[in-house]
Amino acid sequence: MTESNVPRKAEKLMAVKGMNDLLPPDSARWEALEERVRALMRRYAYENIRTPIVEPTALFVRGLGEVTDIVEKEMYSFEDRLNGEQLTLRPENTAGVVRAVVEHTLLYNGGKRLYYFGPMFRHERPQRGRYRQFHQVGAEALGFAGPELDAELILMADALWKELGLQGVELQMNSLGQPEERNLHRAALIAHFEAHVEVLDAESRRRLHLNPLRLLDSKNPDMQPVIESAPKLLDFLGNASRAHLDAVLAILDANQVSYTMNPRLVRGMDYYNLTVFEFVTTQLGSQGTICGGGRYDYLVEQIGGKPAPAVGWAIGIERVLELLKAQEGALAAPALDAYAIVPDAAALPQVAACLQRLRSKGVSVLMHASGDAGMASMKNQFKRADSSGARYALVFGADELAQGCVTVKALRDASVAQRTLPLGDWAQWADSLQSTA
Ligand code: ATP
Ligand code: MG
Repeated sequence: MTESNVPRKAEKLMAVKGMNDLLPPDSARWEALEERVRALMRRYAYENIRTPIVEPTALFVRGLGEVTDIVEKEMYSFEDRLNGEQLTLRPENTAGVVRAVVEHTLLYNGGKRLYYFGPMFRHERPQRGRYRQFHQVGAEALGFAGPELDAELILMADALWKELGLQGVELQMNSLGQPEERNLHRAALIAHFEAHVEVLDAESRRRLHLNPLRLLDSKNPDMQPVIESAPKLLDFLGNASRAHLDAVLAILDANQVSYTMNPRLVRGMDYYNLTVFEFVTTQLGSQGTICGGGRYDYLVEQIGGKPAPAVGWAIGIERVLELLKAQEGALAAPALDAYAIVPDAAALPQVAACLQRLRSKGVSVLMHASGDAGMASMKNQFKRADSSGARYALVFGADELAQGCVTVKALRDASVAQRTLPLGDWAQWADSLQSTA
């Protein structure tokens, strides 16, 4: 053997920095949250859409705006080795949804309410609540101009916080007006920041004439005073824009959803107009935004579709789960109903057939697995049953099977008496194993 083909212990491969494995039991909480979200979407009649994770880079450059954090520094972009196409792992999914809606002319027959759930990719500095692969659920209402849609989306997110029992989530509202109003504000903004150019960091100086609104989104603490005193877009709104905002707020008021106006809320993408909003909490450090959204009436046209108004939001799943954990309201994974204890491997075919029937009725049941030495001792199997979290042990002992029965023993509730039940009557007692909670 030459040195190079002597077998060596392989080096461990690790996940990419900022991209996390989701493991049990966290994965069960995640699934529970996902189920709640999907049920919520059904109640509000939002339909699911699934678009590719990889999109043409141009979609995001055109859709989100060239002078944005995402496009300037956060995208995972690469060239297709075979045909040279410029591609990007989606950093968000509004642009992808709009592309799909335009490509498939989904608005031919009126508006569409859509939602998605899935991974997004941004090359950011990983920290608590900020990852390079993270997940969003997003809702988009396309083809609707009315303020009741902006309100519907906000009410929908608010309903989710309430259902999850989340406390201390604050809604911040703003209006970015229309392009003409933004232009007037833009001039005032440039004048303001030019007068304070000495406190601007290098990035802000560069962006000052390219995209001055972005300066309002800066997290640089030294710039906060000059951001605070900057001209407010709200003061530049015309009657129609003001009326749109007031109509949204009136619906929120009628539903007792409280909010604060945040005139500096601009959001990270250029595609927004009129309503913008975020749900924020102080409990996640500086990664406190759990949902962000707004109206984007010009994006469909910009992606090449027939002009159509739209509004939507996206929720950061990791941050919501983190907040749930911090508030000790973490969604509980549904407990296992039963653990099957099988003292003798000879019984396995009969036991497997019984469990198959129970599962067809919805009972969740885990069967003890044999090892090299066959089935483990009863004592050991009971230990496993206990640590599995199952509420019942099903004991398929030789005596029970000889009588065509199984013994059902409650593992969590000492007040429930042990029962011996006929296997043939499984359909009658299967339901009694399932939690009603
Ligand atoms: P932030 O200001 O925290 O960077 P953002 O404005 O860039 O957020 P959006 O693009 O509006 O975020 O995305 C919507 C939501 O997705 C955010 O409110 C947040 O909950 C979540 N989110 C965004 N970026 C990340 C990330 N890198 N890791 C985890 N969650 C994220
Ligand atoms: Mg960001």
